[in-house]
Amino acid sequence: MCERSVMDTESGVVGTSPEILLCGCFTQAPSHRDVYTLALTTSELRVQLLESPSRAPAALQLADCLGSRAFRGLSTDPGGHYFSVTAYPTLERRGRRREVSWTFRVGASPDPEEDRRTAETWAASICQLATPVVPGQAGGALRVLPRPSQLLIFLNPRGGKGTAYSLFTTHVLPMLSKADIGFNLVVTERPNHARELAHDYALERWDALVVVSGDGLMYEVVNGLMERPDWSSAIKKPLCILPAGSGNALAASVNHYSGQKQVTNPELLVNCTFHLCKGLVSPMDLVSITTSSGKRIFSFLSVAWGFVSDVDIESEKYRMLGAMRFSIGTAIRLAALRIYKGRLAYLPAEEPSASVSARTPDQLIPAAAKGEITSTPVQSHQYTPYNFCNSNNVETLEGNEEHRSSQSRSGSPGLLDSLLVPLDQPVPTTWKVVKEDKFVMVLALYQSHLGADLFSAPMVTSLNDHLIQLFYISAGISRASLIKIFVAMEKGTHMEYDCPYFVHMPVKAFRIEPFGSRDIMTVDGEVIECESLQGQVHSGLGRLISGGR
Ligand code: ADP
Ligand code: MG
Repeated sequence: MCERSVMDTESGVVGTSPEILLCGCFTQAPSHRDVYTLALTTSELRVQLLESPSRAPAALQLADCLGSRAFRGLSTDPGGHYFSVTAYPTLERRGRRREVSWTFRVGASPDPEEDRRTAETWAASICQLATPVVPGQAGGALRVLPRPSQLLIFLNPRGGKGTAYSLFTTHVLPMLSKADIGFNLVVTERPNHARELAHDYALERWDALVVVSGDGLMYEVVNGLMERPDWSSAIKKPLCILPAGSGNALAASVNHYSGQKQVTNPELLVNCTFHLCKGLVSPMDLVSITTSSGKRIFSFLSVAWGFVSDVDIESEKYRMLGAMRFSIGTAIRLAALRIYKGRLAYLPAEEPSASVSARTPDQLIPAAAKGEITSTPVQSHQYTPYNFCNSNNVETLEGNEEHRSSQSRSGSPGLLDSLLVPLDQPVPTTWKVVKEDKFVMVLALYQSHLGADLFSAPMVTSLNDHLIQLFYISAGISRASLIKIFVAMEKGTHMEYDCPYFVHMPVKAFRIEPFGSRDIMTVDGEVIECESLQGQVHSGLGRLISGGR
C-alpha cells in the first residue's frame, strides 16, 4: 500500500526539491483508510493526502515539534511499524500552544526489518531537526540541554491554589514523556526545603533544575545555589520555571520574550513546558542585594517596597484564589493608601532606554544645580575594592559576567558588587539621590512582568539586558491616577501616562533606605526584613531555559 521512504545517500536530497530530506507514503493511524505523502525538510513536515495532490499540504513546523518516536504495532497489528510526531503549534488567536499528534504506519516493504528501519529513520530525523541549533555552542550565549536530558524537579504543593501537583500531572508529564525527558520529582515539604536541597545536592546528575511553583520557589533554588561553596559552577546549572503559583512573573516574562501573547495558566504552563522540552538555555542576569544587617541575597525578578510589596504579602490570605489575590489586595491597599518614608538612590545606566515614555527623573527632578540632592563625594580609598572603574578587578567570564577574585562579603565569596560601596557610606558621586523622601511605591524590576498579567516593564525584552528598571511613585499621587497606572499595567500601556508622580529609569544599581523598620519589603515576592539595602546587576550570572532570549 505504501511506498518506501527513500533518501539519496550521496546528496541527502530526494526528488526535485533540494529542500526535501525524506519523503514517503504512509497510512495514518488509527483509521488507515487514506494514504498520505510526507515530505521532511529542514524546517517542516509536509503532509498531503495522496488522492488530493492539488490541495496545499498541511505543514507542521519543526520548531513547534516536541518529539517523534518509532514503535511496533500492538497485538492487533503485531507486524506493523509506526512513527508518531507530536507538536505544539501556537493558536494565534489566543496565544496558547495546543497539542497536535500524528501517527503513521510504515508498510510498503515485504521485509518488516526494512519497515522498522524506515520508521526509525523518520523518527530520528524529525527529532534531530526539531532540536534547536545554536550558533557557536562553545562561545555563544545560548546553549541547548543535552539529549536525552535528566531533570531534577522541585514542586511546591502549596504554590498558588495548591494545585501544582495536578497541574504537573495534567499538563507537564505528558509533554515530558513525548519529548523523552527523564526526571526525578521532589515535592517540597516546607518553606526553604528546596533551598536546602539546592544547596546540598550533587548537581552533576542533572541537566537542569526545574521549579513547579511560583517565583518564591525559584528564589529559594537560586539562593540555595549561590550559598554553596561551589556557587560559581552551581549557578551555571540551567534552571527552568514551570508556573504553578499565584505569582508567576518569571514564567510570564519568559513567555513574553519568546514572542508569545500574554496568557495565564494553564496556557502559560504549557508554553513554558514547551520551552523546557526544546531545552534552549539563555544567560540570565541576577541582582546581588546586600542589606544593612549583612545579608546577601540573589534575585532574578524584583525588589519592592511600599504598595507592591504590601499587596503581595497582605493578599497571602486569599491564596486559594490564585492570581486573583493580587486584584483583591490592590483594591484593599488602594482603599488604605499609605506613604512610605525613606531615601532612594541609583546609578543610572549609561544609555537610557529609548522606549521609555513615562517620566524620567530628570524631567521630574532637576539635576544638582536645580536642587537635586547629590551625595557627599566619597574618598576613593573608602570604596576602592568596589570601584567598578578598577578594571584590574574585573574578570569577564562567558556570558559577560563580572566576577572578582578577592574581597569576599557574606555569601558567594569572590563575587564582588563592584558598583556598590558599603551601606554605611554615602553613595558614590556618580549616583543620583532622589529628592523625594515620601513614596507610595519603589520597585526595582528586571523582568518584563511582575505577575502573569502585569506587564510592568515593557522595555525589558530579554533575560540578559544587564539592566535594572527602577520605578517609583512619589507621595501626592491621587488614587485615580494610581488605579489608572495599575489597570494599564495589564497591557503595559502605563508607560504612556504623563503622571509627574510616576517615575522610571534604567539603572545599574540602586539603594533603598527606609526610615522605619515596619514596612514590608520583598525580593522576588518573598518577604525580607525591612532595612536598608542596595543591589547591583550581575550580567548573565545565571542560566534559564527560555524561548531563546
Ligand atoms: P506563589 O506564587 O503561590 O506564592 P511560591 O513559589 O512563591 O508560590 O511559593 C510560596 C511559598 O511557599 C514560598 O515562600 C515557599 O518557600 C513556600 N513553600 C515551599 N514549599 C512549601 C511547602 N511544602 N509548604 C508550605 N510552603 C512551602
Ligand atoms: Mg510567591
